[in-house]
Amino acid sequence: MNIPFNKPHMTGKELWYIAQAHANGHLAGDGNFTRQCSRWLEARTGASKALLTHSCTAALEMAAILADLEPGDEVIMPAYTFVSTANAFVLRGAVPVFVDVRPDTLNIDERLIEAAITARTRAIVPVHYAGVACEMDTIMDIARRHDLLVVEDAAQAVMASYKGRPLGAIGHMGALSFHETKNIISGEGGALLVNAPGRAERAEIIREKGTNRSQFFRGQVDKYTWVDIGSSYLPGELIAAFLWAQMEEADSITRRRLGIWNTYHQWFAEAERQGRLRRPVIPAHCGHNAHMYYLLLPGLEQRTAFIERLRGLGIHCVFHYIPLHDAPAGRRFGRAHGELSVTENIADRLVRLPLWLGMEDAQAEIIQQVLAAL
Ligand SMILES: *Cc1c(COP(=O)(O)O)cnc(C)c1O
Repeated sequence: MNIPFNKPHMTGKELWYIAQAHANGHLAGDGNFTRQCSRWLEARTGASKALLTHSCTAALEMAAILADLEPGDEVIMPAYTFVSTANAFVLRGAVPVFVDVRPDTLNIDERLIEAAITARTRAIVPVHYAGVACEMDTIMDIARRHDLLVVEDAAQAVMASYKGRPLGAIGHMGALSFHETKNIISGEGGALLVNAPGRAERAEIIREKGTNRSQFFRGQVDKYTWVDIGSSYLPGELIAAFLWAQMEEADSITRRRLGIWNTYHQWFAEAERQGRLRRPVIPAHCGHNAHMYYLLLPGLEQRTAFIERLRGLGIHCVFHYIPLHDAPAGRRFGRAHGELSVTENIADRLVRLPLWLGMEDAQAEIIQQVLAAL
């Protein structure tokens, strides 16, 4: 058996759309496919503007520029996340302030946010771990009362929702990822969702190297010039063409992933009752997207042995993250607010199981081996 941890899913139309983009002769960004993908995101999420980017990392960097941070300003986020959540803000001179996560969803513990706010706090960055929503009503209420920006790291959360509202479109801005390890992919890719219409124009400028090129091409200005800071965050049409093939199938991809997720979940229920593992918790008001299936094992030693044993059978399971407050750069650039005991505890115990379209036939065998390895 050789079951990789991830295998990118192709819908079958990717090369056909890339050939169309090639035939159209427009290869730089903002051609027809880019427009189609952006309109799709806006229609699906309700964001006032969706801008494709090279990655979620790029979208987070744009959000950090849009947040107008001064060196020393603070941004509250979980430590249990990917490095880009913090890096984007550190690049602006800001200080990530890490708070603990909830023991159930492993999302930022919204009950700890208010105590971490100081006179320097400017933003909160909720990360929707595994495509399961953070407690956005509470977070938006805190942000309103303290006049803070909310930037959703929705890298894992395309097609997921909170009380029926699409993730990425609830905060002031949201960042999505189309990296090949996510649900909807273009190899590398992402998008910034701008939910406050007032920020959309500046977002376009920042993405176009600090120029008003987009307005120029719409005929809104008669000269195309340097007007702000910015960088090259706009993907070319070939990437957008690939992505369009994925967006067309987004509903069926999500449905099929949920099928695999639910199969895992049912089969591990008994082991959870016996106290041998803990399964993911999905609050009733969260519509998740089956981005990830993870298990919490009793401890680090058990996890190491579990991963080794399954690897020996050709089943590749992985763990993540080294909590950011405990990483060399996290200690240098950020600080922890209080004890991050839940974060430290779950980081040693979490293991991710293979979850990709096409593994369905092997799933019964995977489940059997997982249960035997506990
Ligand atoms: C994948 C991921 C990112 C980075 O996405 P890229 O598109 O690879 O830049 C950021 N944050 C989280 C939580 C992620 O899972």
